[in-house]
Order: sequence, then C-alpha cells, then structure tokens
Amino acid sequence: MKAVRLHEGAQVRVEEIPDPVPGRGQVRVALRAAGVCGTDLHASRGLLPIPALPVVMGHEGAGVIESVGEGVEGAAVGDRVLLLPSETCGECAPCRAGHLGLCPRAAIFGMARDGTFAERMVVPAGCVLKIPDNVPFEHGAILADAVATAYHAVATRGCISGGERVAVIGCGGVGYHAILLARLLGAGTIVAVDVSEGALRRATAAGADATVDARSDDARKSIRKAAGGDGPDVVIEYVGRKDSVELALAAVARSGRVVVGGVGTESPRLPPLLSFVGREIALLGSMGYTRAELDRVVALASSGELDLSHSITARYPLERAAEALDDLAARRGDPVRLALLPDAS
Ligand SMILES: [Zn+2]
Ligand SMILES: [Zn+2]
Repeated sequence: MKAVRLHEGAQVRVEEIPDPVPGRGQVRVALRAAGVCGTDLHASRGLLPIPALPVVMGHEGAGVIESVGEGVEGAAVGDRVLLLPSETCGECAPCRAGHLGLCPRAAIFGMARDGTFAERMVVPAGCVLKIPDNVPFEHGAILADAVATAYHAVATRGCISGGERVAVIGCGGVGYHAILLARLLGAGTIVAVDVSEGALRRATAAGADATVDARSDDARKSIRKAAGGDGPDVVIEYVGRKDSVELALAAVARSGRVVVGGVGTESPRLPPLLSFVGREIALLGSMGYTRAELDRVVALASSGELDLSHSITARYPLERAAEALDDLAARRGDPVRLALLPDAS
C-alpha cells in the first residue's frame, strides 16, 4: 500500500509498504480521508519526540473497515468509521471516565504508532467509532480532533451559556470550530482574534461578529470594545504562545474564564495578583475531549446543526502530502483543515 512516512532527519517520503494485517482485537480500515493538523506539521519538522522512525504520519482519519481480527465485537466489515487520534490504555482513571485526552499512556497515531496518512491502517477495535452515512469521510476525519477538541474547550471547560460574550484568539483549525460551536451553543457577541486577514474572514463566515488583528497597537482594548460591556466573559486561546495567553488574561471581563487550548513551550505570566485575584479570573487548560463529547459532535454534524461544509479548505492525494504540510506551514490559502484523500491518487 501507499503510505506517507516520516524518516530520520525530518524526511517525509511517500512509499510502498506491505499492507498491515489485523491481529486479535484489531480492525483494518481502508482510509478515505485524513486531516492534516499542526501536530503533523511539527512532527514533520522534527520538533516532536518520536519513539521510533520511520513511522506512518497522521492521527486524523476516517474510512471503511475492510477486515477484522479474531475476537472483535461491535465492529464489522463495511462499517463507515472515524478513528480516534490515539490508542489509550482503557484502565486509568481518565480512561474509565471516558476522557480520551488525559490518558498518561496514550500512544498517538502518526507518532507512537503508524497513522492515517496511508491507504490502510490497523487499530484496536476500540479506536474506531461508527459514523452515520450522511457524514462525509473528510468530516469524519476531523471530528475526532479539530471539532471535538473545540467542543470540549467551548462547552465543558468554557461552559459558555446563553448570551455570554466570547473571544477566540487563534482562528485556525481548532479556533475556527470553536467559533462555529460557540455560535451553535448560544454565545452572544463573538470576537475573532488572529494575525491573518484570511483567517479573520473565515471566522466571520463561521459566526464571529467582530474581528481584531492581534498585532494592532492595543489589541486588548479592541477586544474589550468589540465584545462590549466589561470585555468577553470567556476567552478561548488556540495559539499556545506567551503573548496570546497574556492577551487573553488582560482582555477577559471581571469574573471571566480564560480557556487555553494552544500548546507550546513558552511560559506566560499571570497579571499582577491585585488584578488576577481582584477580577476573579479563572484560568483553565483544555486538552482533548470525552467519548460523550465526541458522540455529541458526530450527532451535531449528522443532524446538520453543525455545518462543516467550509472546514476542509484544500484536498490533496497522498503523493502530495509534503506539499500539504508546506502549505499549512505557510498558511497558504488560510487553511482551516487540509485533507489527504488516499483514493484520489
Ligand atoms: Zn491534531
Ligand atoms: Zn488510560
């Protein structure tokens, strides 16, 4: 089969490798779509620790089960499925609580295990979830990462309730979906903050009422003014840098919540305690999502309440994976999500 593998020295190669064979408890999925995420980009540039190379890249995917190993129940040949982004232990407290993002033993596909940038993939049967016939594969591929992750941040961590003012800092893949979901969950004014005009245009189409260029002189003041009142009640951060988290903390309203979903290595500073405590700001991390949240976003996509029709901004055959990664790195075409389509090649 054809697969996109990452080799030593940050080399991305499209290669012919043997078809994987499902063992006991495993299923083989013929992939129809894979999402290209910032994590894949960082991995391809050698910025993330990978236990063993080469590895098939990618952790967002959907397709059809084409064979099952011994002892598999609840999954059958012909099922249309999405893939979870990692294999979790199933035994730790977060796993037992259904929180797929917090398992300390999670092995992410495309890094710790062969991933989705291939024609076929073998995973434990517990790593697939059936998707309704009316959910396209390319939407299935992103539901278990870009969409469910945003849902957890907006609905569960941010607890956005009716009419609350929201700002989203960083409107790429996950931030774009955070805006769509905040609108769906009844947010009041939504302010989109980014450095790219194209991303802000897409954010407006997703439901943002106002946009702020994060590079502008007084972005904090602009966010507060655009949100109205005392500023946004909830700020969702999807950049993962010191400056953007500090901007979120400075802009949020009294008694507001800052939800940080962007991951990076920098260390932001808290505002002076007089302000942080005095304004009763809540600072929350947000990682992954729960199984119930994933079921919820699949249902929202299937019912049409969640419109993902503008989420895939470019499509590539597997052979052009390196080009897709370059386009994502340069934010060429202001990508929301890029998709690799194995059978388009
Ligand atoms: Zn991802
Ligand atoms: Zn676990």
